[in-house]
Amino acid sequence: MAEPTRVDIAVVGGGLVGLSCAHMLCRALPEARIRLIEQHPPGPVSTPASSNFDARSTALSMGSVDMLQALGLWSQICDRAAPILSVQVSDRGHIGRVSYSEGAGERQPLGFVVTNAVLVEALNQTSGYPNLNLARPLGVEKVLPRQQVVQLSLSNGGSLQTSLLVIADGANSQLRRQLGIGATADDYHQHAVVANVAFEQPHQGRAFERFTAEGPMALLPLADPAGEGNTAALIWTRPDRELAACLAWSEQQFLSQLQQVFGSAVGRFKRVGKRDHYPLRRVLSEEQVRSNIVLLGNAVHSLHPVAGQGFNLALRDVQQLVGVLAEKAPGLNYGDLVLLQEYAERQQADQNRTSLISHGFNSIFSSEKKNLQLIRNLGLLSLELLPFAKQGFFAHMMGRGQSQVQPEFMRIARCGVQGE
Ligand SMILES: Cc1cc2nc3c(=O)[nH]c(=O)nc-3n(C[C@H](O)[C@H](O)[C@H](O)COP(=O)(O)OP(=O)(O)OC[C@H]3O[C@@H](n4cnc5c(N)ncnc54)[C@H](O)[C@@H]3O)c2cc1C
Repeated sequence: MAEPTRVDIAVVGGGLVGLSCAHMLCRALPEARIRLIEQHPPGPVSTPASSNFDARSTALSMGSVDMLQALGLWSQICDRAAPILSVQVSDRGHIGRVSYSEGAGERQPLGFVVTNAVLVEALNQTSGYPNLNLARPLGVEKVLPRQQVVQLSLSNGGSLQTSLLVIADGANSQLRRQLGIGATADDYHQHAVVANVAFEQPHQGRAFERFTAEGPMALLPLADPAGEGNTAALIWTRPDRELAACLAWSEQQFLSQLQQVFGSAVGRFKRVGKRDHYPLRRVLSEEQVRSNIVLLGNAVHSLHPVAGQGFNLALRDVQQLVGVLAEKAPGLNYGDLVLLQEYAERQQADQNRTSLISHGFNSIFSSEKKNLQLIRNLGLLSLELLPFAKQGFFAHMMGRGQSQVQPEFMRIARCGVQGE
């Protein structure tokens, strides 16, 4: 039998997180031999937003934009991204409301919204890295930890040994399962219904988070080359029991239900694109690192999408991991457990906070219990009335100033989680 090929770092999974990780690793560790393994071939190159009303999108925090800029990728994305100039958070039928925008005079963006196709297209440009070998389509079938290395059996019958295995194979991570790493799952009994919508009035860079008794909804401004600024990505949380009905609504029924729930902040809803839906569960891996192994992205934490934090958090994880690997003492193995534990410790607080915010947001804002209704309205009002608290909270959402999330919001989030 042929000897297995040997690399320093193998990244399994070429989704948003695996691809970003490969970029950061290649730049920071030019001496390392890196392999990215993805089971699917690359998708089609994106079409302009105007001709692709069905494209899915991601809200990027400014911290994430900074990282994409550092990777030299932002210049390919920025023309097709819509800036978020303000965020309005409100609770349907109640007084609590908070809005936020940054800077006086000319407004600085709080983040950007970009279609996943545009992001992936930019991230797929890896030809400039001599130390990267991109293997796709190729699946990893089996993972076998050995002394100081991990051995992977591949779908083409070959095998690969790596000093560090980065597992980024998504929320249903098969590799996590094969390694016997448990995960806790909170089923929200909700689905996110996702579609692009067009409306009468320009969005003017406003993003909306609206909370209803059935769950939160978000409306994120989209770039449109025609410059009308009247399209947005809708993420609408629906209880499982109502999903089938919601998908069966005609376009007119969907638009009129949406109008009722969202209100008139962008005028009349005129059009809705293809409706997709995702089951909503928070999945947290019980371990993030082992000798020669690290889990990233949805494989380690899959969050409720309403706060738009999953990919943003994963990028901060990747940045931290790559920083620790780049600082390693000469002679140490990339998969050394001390290094990987150092990474996990450094990122722990950010991960806990972000997971709690995403989970707490959904728990307290989906509840019809009177005491939670009161708490969330007080929470929104206190954010509105305390400028420093508000600054800290939004700084976290934007991926900047991670330690500044205001204690009052965290108390409310915890209270919502405990009271659910
Ligand atoms: C509706 C919705 C809206 C969202 N909006 C936002 C947002 O606005 N902002 C934000 O930050 N986050 C958002 N998120 C979260 C974000 O989409 C995820 O955090 C991110 O996509 C996770 O990427 P990933 O690479 O970890 O996983 P995946 O995208 O699942 O990628 C895993 C990859 O691994 C490959 N793979 C799996 N098994 C193998 C194998 N054995 N061998 C080889 N390859 C394999 C798969 O083919 C896949 O390409 C949203 C999520 C949802 C559902």
